[in-house]
Amino acid sequence: MGITEDLHELRDRGIAAVDATNDLVGLDAVRVEFLGKKGSLTTILRGLGGLSPEERPAVGKVSNEVRQALESAFQERHAELAAAAMAERIGAEAVDVTLPGRARPVGSRHLIEQISAQVVEIFLGLGYRIAEGPEVELDYYNFTALNQPPDHPARSLQDTFYVRDLSGERADIDGESDVLLRTHTSPVQVRVMESQKPPIYVLAPGKVYRRDVADPSHLPQFTQIEGLVVDEGITFGDLKGTLDHVCKAIFGPDRRTRFRPHFFPFTEPSAEVDVSCGICGGEGCRFCKGSGWLEILGCGMVDPNVFGYVGIDPERYSGFAFGMGVERIAALKYNIPDLRMLLEGDMRFLRQF
Ligand SMILES: [Zn+2]
Repeated sequence: MGITEDLHELRDRGIAAVDATNDLVGLDAVRVEFLGKKGSLTTILRGLGGLSPEERPAVGKVSNEVRQALESAFQERHAELAAAAMAERIGAEAVDVTLPGRARPVGSRHLIEQISAQVVEIFLGLGYRIAEGPEVELDYYNFTALNQPPDHPARSLQDTFYVRDLSGERADIDGESDVLLRTHTSPVQVRVMESQKPPIYVLAPGKVYRRDVADPSHLPQFTQIEGLVVDEGITFGDLKGTLDHVCKAIFGPDRRTRFRPHFFPFTEPSAEVDVSCGICGGEGCRFCKGSGWLEILGCGMVDPNVFGYVGIDPERYSGFAFGMGVERIAALKYNIPDLRMLLEGDMRFLRQF
């Protein structure tokens, strides 16, 4: 058998082997076998050396044709197998968008935070700014500058957590340290008036502390929102108009307010504000203990003595202040029977809001 026949036989065998492969790895092995440096074609061509010069061109032509035929067969099969492999991968990685997802529970703001944010929003709309002060406060700001000097009887109205000073550097007042956990947000008023000149329109939300045992209507730590206005020509009418607007914004436009005379050391005159009961509409029910009204905040005109502590001229300026408990607002708005529920972290309760 001549070399030309060998080449044709090699070509047919190679094409058959290419057609028989089913994957790219197998195809590459076949390519090495037939076309590699040590492959069948190279082996046959080594025999060209033994041919006569007349025979060589014809055999060279055949060997080129065979090489081209094998190479194009490989390329064609390679393209087919690569496309098939790609299709298989896409199929395997496909996402079935019709499958139901796994829901992750989404957190939310605590009810106390929600109410605080809502009240803050109302006052920002009225042009107020937010003020802050320390929760660990000096006696001076919590009591003295709010018209309750050390001998003032009103101090006994509030049960205070005192911070004991072990260094002994701070002077004691009646055997107590003069550092305490603030019992109300009113010390922020004093700090604002010390550092700003009128006109002042500020709102101070924050935590306050009292030595109360937690029960359905008391908490040793709760949230207050304090407001202070100091400007020329501020009257009790401005106070009433502002708080009536705020109560309606919090509880709804159909709720009414009433002002009852009260006493606070740092305002004169002072009042407590009630909002009409949302359960009975003012007729009287168990929730409002038959009165038709629910107590919601304390307020009054800033006492001129307080202006004296911070150097504001009471002849030129007047102002009002108010404070409300956020937990109480939450309880009245959502009919929560026990304030402790707000702090217990029971998700079955908190998820309702
Ligand atoms: Zn009622």
